[in-house]
Amino acid sequence: MATPGRHGPSQYTLAVESTEWLTPHLVRVIAVGESLAGFADSGHTDAYVKLLFVDPTLDLEPPYDLAALRATLPPDQQPVVRTYTVRWVDRAARRLAIDFLTHGDSGVAAVWAAKAAPGDRLVLAGPRGAYTPDPAVGWHVFAGDLSALPAIAASLEALPAHAHGIAHIEVADPADILHLTRPAEVAVNWLVNTDEGDTTFLARAMENMHWPAAADVPGAVQVFAHGERESVKAIRKVLHARGVPREAISISGYWARGRTEDAFQAEKREPIGRID
Ligand SMILES: Cc1cc2nc3c(=O)[nH]c(=O)nc-3n(C[C@H](O)[C@H](O)[C@H](O)COP(=O)(O)OP(=O)(O)OC[C@H]3O[C@@H](n4cnc5c(N)ncnc54)[C@H](O)[C@@H]3O)c2cc1C
Repeated sequence: MATPGRHGPSQYTLAVESTEWLTPHLVRVIAVGESLAGFADSGHTDAYVKLLFVDPTLDLEPPYDLAALRATLPPDQQPVVRTYTVRWVDRAARRLAIDFLTHGDSGVAAVWAAKAAPGDRLVLAGPRGAYTPDPAVGWHVFAGDLSALPAIAASLEALPAHAHGIAHIEVADPADILHLTRPAEVAVNWLVNTDEGDTTFLARAMENMHWPAAADVPGAVQVFAHGERESVKAIRKVLHARGVPREAISISGYWARGRTEDAFQAEKREPIGRID
């Protein structure tokens, strides 16, 4: 059984089984644990969890009481929480996979994943989710960078065989392009952008793609757009100009350049963090 956190959703204590580099910047961590037999179903293809990192020198056993730790620990020993998509979970086999984009030496989660070894502990809480592809929709549109690729890949796999649409995926390095399982009529448009300051790159691809004639009619289009915050804001403008109904859009920043996730999440309450 998963252990309910004293504050918040159930916590699952897992151990790394293996890691696999899918591309030079994408590492899959497969973790195992008996509690996965009861891993909750978010009911969504973008299911995500909160990874909980505590200072190993504290020698704490999960489940962690995050509120108590935050109230009592000094700043340099505060627990760190990071959000990641469940790429897949196999409850019968008690296995779960998360794909981490590595982004240099800064941060906590990506650095942890790049060095993860069999037996390492992974504590997570959740899952939650918000997006499910509607099989009745005529045209599915996906847009995102490698942070959103796990959710896009899981969603493509969940589409019915007759689905139509396109996925625009931005990478900085062509070596990160990989095969995605998808319906025959859903195209994958890999886009290489070597200018990290170009935040309208994905939005331009969205603007220039072939749109169904009546994109503003409910049921015509469904959009999933996530990734770097400024890039997502630019995509939002394109969707707005196209008149895509708000209820047909799943859109949010997954991270923001120059911000740790803590700063990024805190800014969601300020004008700079707002997308819609
Ligand atoms: C719902 C949701 C699902 C997500 N799913 C995934 C997923 O499956 N896989 C995944 O890799 N990410 C995913 N992310 C994004 C991930 O949570 C962030 O990238 C997070 O900031 C990484 O934590 P960190 O400790 O490695 O870096 P942090 O300590 O948060 O940041 C350190 C520095 O690295 C920079 N940075 C952070 N992320 C990136 C990035 N993607 N590219 C370049 N620089 C970056 C920051 O701006 C900061 O300067 C998801 C986010 C959300 C909200």
